[in-house]
Amino acid sequence: MKIQMLKPLVAACALGAAALWAGYAISQTPAATAPAAPTASAPAAAPVRYVQAPLPYASDALEPIIDKMTMELHHGRHHKAQYDALNAIAATNPEVAKMSVEELLANTAKFPPGVRNNAGGVWNHDFFWATMAPADKRGAPSTALLLRIVADFGGVEAMKTQFNTAGATRFGSGWAWLVVRDKKLVITSTPNQDNPLMDIAETKGAPILGNDVWEHAYYLKYNNRRGEYLTKWWDVVNWNEVNKRFDAAMK
Ligand code: MN
Repeated sequence: MKIQMLKPLVAACALGAAALWAGYAISQTPAATAPAAPTASAPAAAPVRYVQAPLPYASDALEPIIDKMTMELHHGRHHKAQYDALNAIAATNPEVAKMSVEELLANTAKFPPGVRNNAGGVWNHDFFWATMAPADKRGAPSTALLLRIVADFGGVEAMKTQFNTAGATRFGSGWAWLVVRDKKLVITSTPNQDNPLMDIAETKGAPILGNDVWEHAYYLKYNNRRGEYLTKWWDVVNWNEVNKRFDAAMK
């Protein structure tokens, strides 16, 4: 277990010990002899509700488009921190703990902003890792998907251009998305860790492809050149996965 995950437990133990001590002090007369150490057992550790999976490929599998260090920091630090934060919220909020990540996305309005940010971050990155693949696993858009892209955008290049523009013009941090909405493809972008599955999303739909335009996703290699990252990113897209998502969303 990592130190980060132990923090809530240590805090809970300290809190429990302090409460026991305070209770003891109140119940004893000042003349009492030195108190024995509290004997009550420590509170049980809160279960880890949401578990981050390893990257589905080696951290250097997307080189040279996305460098190994960016992948390791992105998955091992940024995404992990969102899992840790969501688990910390779930440990003290039973309403949160009983929901899946998808259920949290559909109910962000009823929870504090930490749920929106961290359930969003957890889901978005899980989706993002699977949206990319090593060279031998990427495949190509299916005929059904290509026909839909032509119908809704005029062609693949036009779709990519619109998607890249959505990512490039998202001010600050956020995501660009290709979603199925009413059996049609639509491009949208969201701020921060929002996504089109959220109750509060301006454009709702079923995401089939998404790109992370936070600086942490590209800055080490591309510096401030977000547009270059967006253009090159298409070369690592896992079309096999996008095809599956498209089929599921069109049913
Ligand atoms: Mn990210």
